[in-house]
Order: sequence, then C-alpha cells, then structure tokens
Amino acid sequence: MSPICNSCSPNVAMWENVPYHPSMKISFPPDARASRSVARKINEAGGEAYLIGGCVRDLCLGRAPKDYDVATSLPPEAILTIFPGANETGKSFGVMRVRSHGSEIEVATFRRDGPYSDGRRPDFVEFTSLKEDILRRDFTVNALAADVETGEVIDHSGGLDDLAKKIIRAVGKPEARFEEDRLRLIRAVRFAHVLGFTIEPGTWNALRALAKKISSVAMERVADELTKILCCVPSGAGIRLLDESGLLEVILPEVTRMKNVAQPEQFHPEGDVFIHTCLVMDQLKPDPSPAVAWAALLHDVGKPDTFMVTDRIRFHGHAELGARMCRKIGRRFRLSNAVIDRMHDVILEHQKFGDIDKMRPGRLKRWAAMPHFEELLEVHRADCAGSHADMSAYETACAALDEIRRLAAMPAKIVNGELLIELGLEAGPSFREIIEEAYEAQLEGRINTRDDGIAWVRIRSIVP
Ligand code: ATP
Ligand code: MG
Repeated sequence: MSPICNSCSPNVAMWENVPYHPSMKISFPPDARASRSVARKINEAGGEAYLIGGCVRDLCLGRAPKDYDVATSLPPEAILTIFPGANETGKSFGVMRVRSHGSEIEVATFRRDGPYSDGRRPDFVEFTSLKEDILRRDFTVNALAADVETGEVIDHSGGLDDLAKKIIRAVGKPEARFEEDRLRLIRAVRFAHVLGFTIEPGTWNALRALAKKISSVAMERVADELTKILCCVPSGAGIRLLDESGLLEVILPEVTRMKNVAQPEQFHPEGDVFIHTCLVMDQLKPDPSPAVAWAALLHDVGKPDTFMVTDRIRFHGHAELGARMCRKIGRRFRLSNAVIDRMHDVILEHQKFGDIDKMRPGRLKRWAAMPHFEELLEVHRADCAGSHADMSAYETACAALDEIRRLAAMPAKIVNGELLIELGLEAGPSFREIIEEAYEAQLEGRINTRDDGIAWVRIRSIVP
C-alpha cells in the first residue's frame, strides 16, 4: 500500500529536517472509500466534513488505519436527515453511526469539551468549530484532520512536525490535559510504544508526576490500552516504558514485584524475573491473541512469592500460584471470562514442558489435545527463547500436536465394530483386520457411505 503522495512520504525518516509545509497532502487508500463518501454527502448537503484523528496520523505515516472517523460541522439531527436510519446511540455526545459501502462510519459533530470535574469525562460538550474540535484532542499527532477531496492535512497544533520528529506531545499544557482525562496517561505510553516514538520531555515529566492518578480511571479502559501495548510485539519496550513512567507500579504492582527476584543462572542466564518477562514479551510472534499476550506477561507472576533457595533457587508451585493470581488480576481489569480462562490454563500448565520427556505417548497426546494448547505452546516457545533458548521440549510438543491434527483430519471409520455386529458378524479377533481393511478402502474412496460399507462387508464375507 502506498497511500502517500506529494510531499508526504511513508518513510518518516525521510521527513527529518523537512520543515512543516502547510500544503502537505495525503492520498487515500481504497478502504477509505466508505468514509470519504459519507463526508462527500455531508459536503454536498452544505456541511463541512473531514477525516480526523488516528486515521490521518496513520496515513501520514504510511500505516494502514484501523478505522476512519469523520468529523462534521452539522449537528446530529442534520446527519439523520442526510442519512435516515443512522444509528443514534451516541447522539447526545454528537456521535452518529452511518452505514456506507457495507461498513459503519462514526460521524461526530465538531465539539468542545466542558470542564472535567471527575478526571474522566467532560461535564458537558458543546458543538463548535473544526479548530476547537482538533484542539480538544489528546496528542498533537492525533490532532490532525484531512480534506476528503484534496487530501490536504489540517494541523493546528504542530502534529505534522511531531510526526516527522517521532514525538508524542500533549496538545496544550500536559498537566492540565492529563488531569482532565487520566486515561491519556497510559495512552501516551501506548502511542509511544506502538508508533516507536519518544515522549516529549514536558509531556513525560507531567506523565511521571501524575502517574498515580491512573488509579481513578475505570479498569476496563486501562485494560484496553494495556492490551494494545502487550499485543504490539516486541512489547518488552512497552512494559519498560510503563515501568519508567510509574504507571506499571500503580496498575500492575504484581509485575513490578518481579524486579530483582533472582533466578538460577543455568536456566535463566538473562537475569531476574522482570528482565526475563520483558524478553519473553519481545519473543512472541506478531499479533498475539490477548490471552497469549497477557499469559506471557503473567506466566511467572507467582515467582516472587515462591522464591526459595534449597539446593539452588527454586520456585515450587509458582505455576499454580500464578494461575490463581492471574484470575484475580484478570477480574480486576474486567477482562472477558474467555481470556481469563485461557490465560489461567496457559499459566497453570506452562511448567509441564520440563517433564515432557517423562510423559508416556498417550499422556502427551492427551495433554496436547487440551483446548488452546497452541496458545500454551506459543508462550512456552517465547519463554524458552527469552531464557536458555533450548527448544527441545517445544519440538517434542509440536510433534505431538501435529500427530493429533493428523488424526483429527482423518475421517471417522464408516465400517466399525458396531456396524459389523449389526450385520450379524460375531465379535472376535478378525474384526480389527476387517475394520482396518475397510478403512483403507474408505481412504481410497471405494467406501463413501454406510450403504457402500455394508455392501463391502457382505462381499468380503462371501469372498474374504
Ligand atoms: P487507533 O489506531 O488505536 O484506533 P486512534 O488514534 O484512532 O488509534 P482512538 O482511541 O480510536 O485512537 O481515538 C480516535 C481519536 O480520538 C484519537 O486519535 C484522538 O484524536 C481522539 N481521542 C481519543 N481518546 C481521546 C482522549 N481520551 N482524549 C482526547 N482525545 C482523544
Ligand atoms: Mg481509532
């Protein structure tokens, strides 16, 4: 995809030292069609409409936007007249959802936020101009709009300059913006990590000074941002940034407690439990499921409380304790039950790879057949790659999983013991031979239905 044209390059490095040019333009990829068509209809009806926020940032960077938001001068009632049947659930905040080209586009009326007396959301919102709407946004790189016809980028806060310099900077006074909505504290870390940007010193100092206030934000909102950080591999840097900001201590003290917890050097030459965890997060394959990302983060969360030195450093029962702790943590962050259950099972089972050579083949296959074994396997792979790098248990487990998949891919036997008895044959040692022979015929396509099977058995009993 090359959505960039004119003075805008997909390679931000190429922008270094290029001064912001007011006529900077982006071109739109095909998936922007639905939102542009919505904006065009609003313009034709006499309103103003722009693409705004993250999608403009991403197009300027040559990244594929997740979604396209439209902002308009028209109030919700006028949007309803242009798009009868628009979804009105967010109408009181000025947000309507319009269907176009098979997708739903968010159309928000330009708004200014009233005071934030609770540090979470504005007491009221007022409809206003594009400029004010842009300036209420959190970071300069998110405070960009684009003309849907010309692709011209509208920038009132120096966002294009900051994109070029790879900087996350609060729009306006950082302390005030973080105080208004404390979710922005973790959003700053999220965008820095996901985009690979640094946080501008004034914004960083305010973030560190106010980090404790993240505790007043609803945990599910924090969890959404945190999951985005964890799923953006390599995510070790994101966890370290959360730690340096002071946020990790407040939202996940169980993880900061892993620091300075020593491990036996022969298995963990990399260092303490926190260092190991960050390395494991770096080793995950791209786009892990939230369950895998969370399980990788918390797989050793039971270690600080089970640390003991006998013949060497040991952590007896850390998987069991970690599994219990992760349920509690998952509930605290209001993660879904499905994610919590999967993360729990992965953490509970992750130590068993150490015994894989002692498992009988049947036991190993039964283990590999457990639900979500692949997620367990992925965390184990990253766990090894982030420590001793010995992949032998991983390879044994992969082979067991392959075998199970191969068996599962085989069709059920049409001629089985039950059918033979139904056909009046006497159960005995010859059954196995008949069944195996019939199965071969089935795999070769000579038996396709139960009737084929019956006919095959009859013929075989006449001429064995
Ligand atoms: P993503 O690609 O992850 O969706 P995004 O920038 O689109 O990133 P969203 O959370 O979808 O992020 O928000 C859309 C836009 O709304 C942001 O780009 C920003 O302009 C604005 N915004 C969102 N949340 C806030 C907030 N808490 N405070 C101020 N502005 C916000
Ligand atoms: Mg978005």
